[in-house]
Amino acid sequence: MNDYLYEVARRLVAFDTVSAKTDVAAMEFIAAELPPRGFKTALQPVELLGVSQANLVAWIGPERADGLIISGHVDTVPFEGQPGWERDPLKLEAAGERIYGRGTTDMKGFIAQCLDATRTLDASRLRRPLVFVFTASEEVGCLGAHSVAPALRQILGTTPVPQLAWIGEPTSFEVCHAHKSIVSFVVTVRGIGGHSGAPDKGVNAIAVMGRVIDTIGRLQEERRMHPRPDFAAIFPDAPTDVLNFGTIQGGIASNMIAEECRLRISYRTLPDADPLDLRREIGRRIATLDTRDYAGREHRATIEVGPANVVPPLNSPRGTALEKTLFAVTGATTSGGALYGTDGGWFTGSNIVSLICGPGELSQAHQPNEYVRRDLFERGTAIIHQVVERLCCAG
Ligand SMILES: [Zn+2]
Repeated sequence: MNDYLYEVARRLVAFDTVSAKTDVAAMEFIAAELPPRGFKTALQPVELLGVSQANLVAWIGPERADGLIISGHVDTVPFEGQPGWERDPLKLEAAGERIYGRGTTDMKGFIAQCLDATRTLDASRLRRPLVFVFTASEEVGCLGAHSVAPALRQILGTTPVPQLAWIGEPTSFEVCHAHKSIVSFVVTVRGIGGHSGAPDKGVNAIAVMGRVIDTIGRLQEERRMHPRPDFAAIFPDAPTDVLNFGTIQGGIASNMIAEECRLRISYRTLPDADPLDLRREIGRRIATLDTRDYAGREHRATIEVGPANVVPPLNSPRGTALEKTLFAVTGATTSGGALYGTDGGWFTGSNIVSLICGPGELSQAHQPNEYVRRDLFERGTAIIHQVVERLCCAG
């Protein structure tokens, strides 16, 4: 048993880095481990959703092109109020073949492996730079990566920004080169309130929202009925754009005309499209709706489609040196699409090609009693060593 690996994972899990809380203490802990091993480090402070967060960049090796980025996010999804927990989410616990704790799979286990790998890294053998990019607020829209990706050139100074990034999100060490975009926004219907005994004097926002939901639902059905054959291999479960009605709020009481109704939706589009195309189509269709209430024909509601939060898609080219290396080292033989979004979408915008491959299991991400398999947890350090050896040290 590797005591350091477990100790680092224990420390990382113990930091409550749910996205709504600050990650600074956890990032400072990671940052402090690296300089004694020859790394330069830079914390990038960022204010995200009203909370002080930090991204961390740490790099080592010659100031040459063709290095490697290894990346992961430090924040986690919430656990408070999540039913089913039978353990302390912030306490790393090994039991049988499982290592429990919030973030063990998604994705502090991988970050612990990264730190463990640096312990025995022989910096004198590096021919190209190795760069760690650890991000904040990934779970709430990849916000940390949005800030740090375009700043890498400035942060790294005379070290060229590597063009390949390995993101250790949970895949059980399979390889993924693509994911869909994620777009979320709020649709607000504003009607006219009043007494429910005279519904024709107002406009019920909930009634009009019903038409909005029907319109978006039909669009969803259209996409589902026309799967894209060219994405069948990458996204076998859903080679289409997919939509989700997330939350809805409206009205105050059963005897009052609902004045306002708010619907939050999200969708994921195939990676070859502009993520906002579907939102524009939703806007066009909503603009043609009858915004009058069933109860009266005189007044109309207004419908506002709010600003979109966008996580860009990932569609990395096949056959890169990183792909070949991950195949050789992990034993994976194919690459597919991930069901979730990652920081890689923002790396793409900075001309960095990303692949996803990590020790966690997708089925454990965001779950109560989250765990990582012991064998995959203990195997990761050696995998990182071999990838760094091939991409940063060899020939
Ligand atoms: Zn994740």
